[in-house]
Amino acid sequence: MSENQTHVWNKPLPQPTPISQPFWDGLKAHRVRLQQCDDCGHWIFFPRAHCPQCASQALTWRDVSGQGTLYTYTVARVPTLPEFTDEMPQQLAVVEFDEGPHINTTLVGIAPGEARIGMRVRPVFDTRPGAVTLLRFTDAAGAHPDVIEGDAPAVVEAPAQDTTAATAPRRQILYTDLDAMRSLVSSEFSGWSNEFQVTQAIIDAFAALSGDDYWIHTDPVRAKAESPFGTTIAHGALVQVLMSRLQLPLDYEITGFNNMLNYGSDRIRFASPVPSGCRIHARHRVKAVEAVKRGVQMTLEINIHVVGQDRPSVVNDLVILYM
Ligand SMILES: [Zn+2]
Repeated sequence: MSENQTHVWNKPLPQPTPISQPFWDGLKAHRVRLQQCDDCGHWIFFPRAHCPQCASQALTWRDVSGQGTLYTYTVARVPTLPEFTDEMPQQLAVVEFDEGPHINTTLVGIAPGEARIGMRVRPVFDTRPGAVTLLRFTDAAGAHPDVIEGDAPAVVEAPAQDTTAATAPRRQILYTDLDAMRSLVSSEFSGWSNEFQVTQAIIDAFAALSGDDYWIHTDPVRAKAESPFGTTIAHGALVQVLMSRLQLPLDYEITGFNNMLNYGSDRIRFASPVPSGCRIHARHRVKAVEAVKRGVQMTLEINIHVVGQDRPSVVNDLVILYM
């Protein structure tokens, strides 16, 4: 993703208060700070004006390691808000600091199913929102970086099939060899393409170009208040053409043709929305191959999904004519 993209953080953010401000300032400096009671020594989180143990108001902010253990967690496969659609599945967790207090957080760099209650975890500073730094946690023994930098995807665990698809030797298939061409027809989908982030800047550019500047695409404030999706969404037609940004992993190569025509589409459906800021990727299968008067026609079913979503956003039966 070498595009010069404006990163748009479309998710709700914490609002620091005078009492909690030192905590957020600490995260900005990549430090975890907790309050400790000067009178009874009790460690405190969330930030408060008095000690919940002895009611003393003599509390001091102190740097701590931020290390702790995983107290409990759940894997959320349905977004808690539309803005989190691109983070599915999300691992919502409670971490117990070594000093005792608990904190609500999300786990990163741990594959769903790998988390274990009681495992050692360490802090990860997520700087992507810009205005505030968020505190996430990862496996203390894992290789996840301590800081998630702006514009970097949080955790991209590339499915193994991606690498195998990229390195697998390509079968060469002569387009006139109908048996070989038909052997490509499958009900199984390929591996996933690369990912591409559909930013509000891209949606705005498409609105300007197409003239479709309906508020559901272009007005984040109104969309937050009035749209059933709670945020702006990309135009279906935009998502469809963004296929050009996605490289499908093909394990075959059609050869011998003089010309390849994009004949259009037998079917196109915009099956689910792509909220602004989400990453998309695609996969495909060869749906049909038939000899026609002018050559050989192949129908590819190309599905574009929001990353992490089972339901496709665009279903496109693309017809290609080889001649
Ligand atoms: Zn106290």
